[in-house]
Amino acid sequence: MKDRVYNFAAGPSMLADEVLNELNEEFYNYGNTGMAVMEMSHRGKDYLSIFEDAKKRLYQIMEIPEDYDVFFMHGGATGQFAAVPLNLLKGGKADYIITGNFSKKAAQEASKYGEIHIAYDGKDNDYSHIPAQDELSLSEDARYVHLCSNNTIYGTEWKNYPDVHGKILVADMSSDILSRKVNVKDFGLIYAGAQKNIGIAGIAVVILRKDLISEPDRITPQILSYQLMEKHDSMLNTPATYPIYVLGKVLKWIQDKGGLEVIEKNNIKKAKLLYDYLDSQSFYKPHAEKDSRSLMNVTFTSPSEELDKKFASEAAKNGLVSLKGHRLVGGIRASIYNAMPIEGVRKLIEFMDVFARENS
Ligand SMILES: *Cc1c(COP(=O)(O)O)cnc(C)c1O
Repeated sequence: MKDRVYNFAAGPSMLADEVLNELNEEFYNYGNTGMAVMEMSHRGKDYLSIFEDAKKRLYQIMEIPEDYDVFFMHGGATGQFAAVPLNLLKGGKADYIITGNFSKKAAQEASKYGEIHIAYDGKDNDYSHIPAQDELSLSEDARYVHLCSNNTIYGTEWKNYPDVHGKILVADMSSDILSRKVNVKDFGLIYAGAQKNIGIAGIAVVILRKDLISEPDRITPQILSYQLMEKHDSMLNTPATYPIYVLGKVLKWIQDKGGLEVIEKNNIKKAKLLYDYLDSQSFYKPHAEKDSRSLMNVTFTSPSEELDKKFASEAAKNGLVSLKGHRLVGGIRASIYNAMPIEGVRKLIEFMDVFARENS
């Protein structure tokens, strides 16, 4: 990987070398078909087997029960901000837990289609905190409760999901899906844009309990209807064929590594290295409260905005790129998704230490 950098971008983000090499090998002529995957008909048997393979692997890795459907949809996670209320609200009300920018956006979008109750908003703690059960004001009559499992911009992550008193729990898992084991049965619906941890931009993965599928709101665009997704097995129109193929490759890579248990262990190890370093010094200030820290996005600041900028640009000269924090919050953010090797994290810490000494 001599000519490659360690890419700490929040998304689109790094893919594993093994995945890129396989994509490269199959790029020009896939499996002796004489064509590239992106040239194939989505209804042809070669592509259908790629599609089925990706779906099967997702069921295997996440241990998705049979009473759940898996859809690959257009419009990214943002499309789901609308799809969820359009399909599940049914003229009722929903609870939204706001722990960062994306959950806020999800609530804003949903409020176009029905009554949204904000069950928690972390703005007073600058989204550095994941609420405990007694901080939530859940309503009696919500049709579902929506949360964002990992807050990509602020660097916080749910460790234990809340008790929603038998309500449908909906989770935006865009930035931590397949980073650790989750019990799919705890959720009515999980969705994720693929470009953070499990592939490239172009698809949202949706995992939905089948009994929740019914006629959506009348105004629902066809491509956001779960009922039509189920009926057409994600092929109501042309699906994003190449991103689904890439997803399949990433899923195979996860299985080759030993599945989610191994992936989770690696992620804990990588994050612990970085957080232990942050806790051992006083130059950098971590943003998230200790028990709310994300395994995926590690956010911190140096003593000044100027130094934050200098940090990102000098890191880049050392092959450590995209460390600038999100434009909304500034600071520094290291996204260390599944594909980031532990050597990348070690190199980052070495760099941080030198930079701190040179700039104190
Ligand atoms: C990136 C991100 C989104 C937005 O995803 P798009 O696919 O670009 O719409 C939504 N939620 C979370 C948690 C994200 O990290």
